[in-house]
Amino acid sequence: MLRVLRLGSKLARIVWASPYSLLGLLIGVASQFTGGHGRFRDGAFEFYGGFATWFVRHLPTGIHTAGFTLGHVILGQADEGLVIVGRHERVHVRQYEVWGPFMGPAYLLCSLWMWCSGKDAYRDNPFEVEAYREG
Ligand SMILES: [Zn+2]
Repeated sequence: MLRVLRLGSKLARIVWASPYSLLGLLIGVASQFTGGHGRFRDGAFEFYGGFATWFVRHLPTGIHTAGFTLGHVILGQADEGLVIVGRHERVHVRQYEVWGPFMGPAYLLCSLWMWCSGKDAYRDNPFEVEAYREG
């Protein structure tokens, strides 16, 4: 019985985060057709190279971003970078499982609040603080 409840809980978290995961998978599939690579590791899909690299490099955080998580999909510029940031990004995967469709707005509002408070919109964002602490 406990096993069924755990499976149901995991399934619910996957469905709850799925709007972002689907977007991440679209980018991942595009990267597959543009010279990129993909795999499933530790509960998340990882894509790097091709369009995934282009996408990550053009994020507001810039060319130094090694990884970016959308639901259960982690996008990166290179294999080595994804290995380095793997634990950090998996904290974000867990955050998507909790916040679901509200993750994007909640993250952006926290960044805005930090910026308006004179703090760093990225490093002081509570989602990032948790990811850096645990990852
Ligand atoms: Zn992060």
